[in-house]
Amino acid sequence: MAGNSSIEWTEATWNPVTGCTKVSEGCRHCYAERMAKRLYAMGNPRYTNGFEVTLHHDLIDTPRKWVKPRKIFVNSMSDLFHDQIPLDFIQKVFITMNETPQHTYQILTKRPHRALELSNNLSFTPNIWMGTSVENESVLNRIHFLRQIPSMIRFLSCEPLLGPLSNLDLTDIHWVIVGGESGPGARPMEADWVREIRDQCFEQNVAFFFKQWGGVQKHRYGRELDNKIYNEYPISPANF
Ligand code: SF4
Repeated sequence: MAGNSSIEWTEATWNPVTGCTKVSEGCRHCYAERMAKRLYAMGNPRYTNGFEVTLHHDLIDTPRKWVKPRKIFVNSMSDLFHDQIPLDFIQKVFITMNETPQHTYQILTKRPHRALELSNNLSFTPNIWMGTSVENESVLNRIHFLRQIPSMIRFLSCEPLLGPLSNLDLTDIHWVIVGGESGPGARPMEADWVREIRDQCFEQNVAFFFKQWGGVQKHRYGRELDNKIYNEYPISPANF
């Protein structure tokens, strides 16, 4: 439920909510759903509802127990701005983040319209980074909502990248992560799509992080692009 993470761009995960529903092509092979089904089958008590949205009130305070500063991915097993998660629960998650400034929190949502709608009721302290997933051009409008959320750092996760993103307006966006799909049925990602995003990041002065090529055996394909590893992070007061 919480602890060290193998995800390349974070250090720990914290899942006060589990479960979700699919909203776009990027959800088709949802890793969280696969994992939830597996944990349900293993009898894990957190997953008795399988992949149904489930609030874990007892995990709201978990990061307060972590003294060492960490980059924490919030809700790797759900989407914090899912419609079934009430505002007062989201506010409690935010209060924990607000009161633990030693940590940096990375919230990734496919529902930035709801995050924006609720943003007046939430406090975006500088240690909270807000991101949205952009897997192909059909969901570019998510960037429009993200840009209006008052977080100090805003980022895009283009993973699984399913098509070219040729005309990215990165105004007020600070970080872009790109990755291919991995696991069974992984859809291929073209190298030119990645290069094009990298070049747009350079032109618009945005940090670029290339996570992985993906594929059925992701570790076989690695994370070099044109013989280079791109590990950039946004510059934020919370980094120092
Ligand atoms: S929004 Fe994220 S967690 Fe929810 S179904 Fe889609 S990929 Fe899975």
